[in-house]
Amino acid sequence: MNGGMMDFRAPKLALESGACGYLTIDLDALCRNYETLSSIVAPARTAAVVKADSYGLGAAQVSRTLYDRGCRHFFVAHFIEALRLRPQLPGDATIFVLNGLLPGNEATCADGGIVPVINSLEQLQQWAETACALRRKLPAVLQFDTGMSRLGIQPEDRNAVADHLRTSEHLEILFIMSHLASADEVDNTQNADQLAEMHRVSAEFPDYDVSFANSGGIFLSEDFHGVLARPGIALYGGTATSDVANPMEAVVRLDVAVVQTRTVPEGARVGYGGVHVTKGETRLATIAAGYADGLPRSLSDRGAVYYNGVRLPIVGRVSMDSTTIDISALPEGTLSFGSMVEVLGDHQTLDDLARDAGLISYEILTSLGHRFHRQYR
Ligand SMILES: *Cc1c(COP(=O)(O)O)cnc(C)c1O
Repeated sequence: MNGGMMDFRAPKLALESGACGYLTIDLDALCRNYETLSSIVAPARTAAVVKADSYGLGAAQVSRTLYDRGCRHFFVAHFIEALRLRPQLPGDATIFVLNGLLPGNEATCADGGIVPVINSLEQLQQWAETACALRRKLPAVLQFDTGMSRLGIQPEDRNAVADHLRTSEHLEILFIMSHLASADEVDNTQNADQLAEMHRVSAEFPDYDVSFANSGGIFLSEDFHGVLARPGIALYGGTATSDVANPMEAVVRLDVAVVQTRTVPEGARVGYGGVHVTKGETRLATIAAGYADGLPRSLSDRGAVYYNGVRLPIVGRVSMDSTTIDISALPEGTLSFGSMVEVLGDHQTLDDLARDAGLISYEILTSLGHRFHRQYR
């Protein structure tokens, strides 16, 4: 019915709930990623790291989906995340708090059936005192610092920890763990150093199984797998290992609406500070997402969005709520008010966008804003 002119125009999706774009989270792809990782580490089990709201994708949705696929171990970073997640999961799912407990949270943690990761002698003593006061045996995981110097029991405290465990009946240690600092770099010698140190820890605590690998560690070698792998970024589609093709499926897609289009002459200034000056007549579109929505300001005059596979460069500075793109590469009229462009999807991966922004994929994911309509597939 419409004349030829209309045929190449972008379809306009009705935007739901007043949103400025669609953030689509593919839970089937998430499950396939979980299964891929599980099959690499089997017979070891695979946990899910769901800290920071599952890297921004929704801890409740992600955790319940993976629970249905057989995942029973869920790691958050802060205790408050565990409190929020606990009611979302059946009782046979265990939630671990990677940072352990801050003083004063012990009784609530014991009450909630949440398992702290013990990173220091102080955390060990406080948790044991709580168990003693409650006349209960409480579960815990011990994390050892094997060379990252971030979280975990220090080498010089290992004897005191071992003594404590020998003399105290209050804690049930489920397993011991450590974290790799350079697992994304296959050739980094820190990996072998940390593995050797983990073997020494294991020899000093021979009664307990080991959890070691994050996403990167899963791809290093079987030596790092232990009994429980703890992937985060790979579940969500990010690259775990540099210099190797990413075997994970994309989980996130982001489409953003065009608010306005315009044609400007040569010499026009674009955006705050007027830092971008057009070199000729240019067709521009302004899209409804800016740095407050997770499009980093470091993408100013760098990076691009896509339409039907055509690269549309970001021009000028990224604003808080909008970003201007050069659409001159598309036939005139292709994009108009209300059209959608691809920020993350078939033509631009999470890692592509992160690279252009000078960031890592983790930062892109955890910054995705809350003004998009979130849809789970
Ligand atoms: C964040 C985190 C993970 C997951 O790391 P990824 O690189 O996202 O797989 C695993 N273990 C610990 C201790 C962490 O802090």
